[in-house]
Amino acid sequence: MHIGFLDIDFIDLFDIVFVAFLLYQIYRLIQGSIANKIFFGYIMIYVVYLVATALGMELLSAILGQFMNVGVLALLIIFQQEIRRFLMMLGRSTSIQENALLKRFYTPKISKENVSTLQAIVEATKVMATTHTGALIVIEKEDDLKKFIESGDEIDSQVSKRLLLTIFHKNSPLHDGAVIIKNGRLAAARCMLPVSESGTISPTLGFRHRAAFGMSEQTDAAIIVVSEEKGEVSFVNHGGIFRNMSVRDLENKLSDYLLS
Ligand code: ATP
Ligand code: MG
Repeated sequence: MHIGFLDIDFIDLFDIVFVAFLLYQIYRLIQGSIANKIFFGYIMIYVVYLVATALGMELLSAILGQFMNVGVLALLIIFQQEIRRFLMMLGRSTSIQENALLKRFYTPKISKENVSTLQAIVEATKVMATTHTGALIVIEKEDDLKKFIESGDEIDSQVSKRLLLTIFHKNSPLHDGAVIIKNGRLAAARCMLPVSESGTISPTLGFRHRAAFGMSEQTDAAIIVVSEEKGEVSFVNHGGIFRNMSVRDLENKLSDYLLS
């Protein structure tokens, strides 16, 4: 195809559409975060660099050129979280679980025997909701949560309703932060979770909920939040929240998500 002096073929069109798609995905990922402003700042510098080079402004383009060189490394560090999320999103869309061939060799980490663990969690959640006891429970799915477990006090015990109620009791020295459940065992308490920077989270939700969002953006874990203020139970996964859940809904959601 000819447009003026331009010679455009199918590959060029594909290239343009693909780059547009990638830019749109990047925009969606960084939308509402601080990274957004940094990204546009970087694009501005790049445009100035291109103009300076085209006009032959040697000193300015040399300085900006140096900046662009280290810039790639700087971008990798600054956008570490966004890049992780992007790669996770790509990985998920070609997920091992959707591949019939791989499915034969794949056994989920949460086995049917762990159903009793889920029941203990749901029962403890029910009590904590009625007593307005704040709680944050993270259940590992595929992604390894080792890093987050190490941020808290390691416990490694069987999960029971009483243990969860004891940990989250207001006067317990372990009640702050999150509990992490791994392979059907209570791995650790008082764990620190990453707080989400997303601008789309309801302003009525505080840090406990933001930490649940942050965790669900970085990992595929299932997260239960019991609000101390409202006594409301929420289920958070993949950056989305189901608020005000009944015990039955929570039980269904948990088993659908973790045992699938
Ligand atoms: P609630 O509805 O229970 O009041 P909230 O979303 O309004 O919850 P806050 O009132 O700010 O949240 O809850 C603070 C508690 O959340 C802290 O005491 C702590 O236990 C927990 N929390 C806050 N940030 C984190 C974090 N990054 N990782 C783990 N736990 C956290
Ligand atoms: Mg609060």
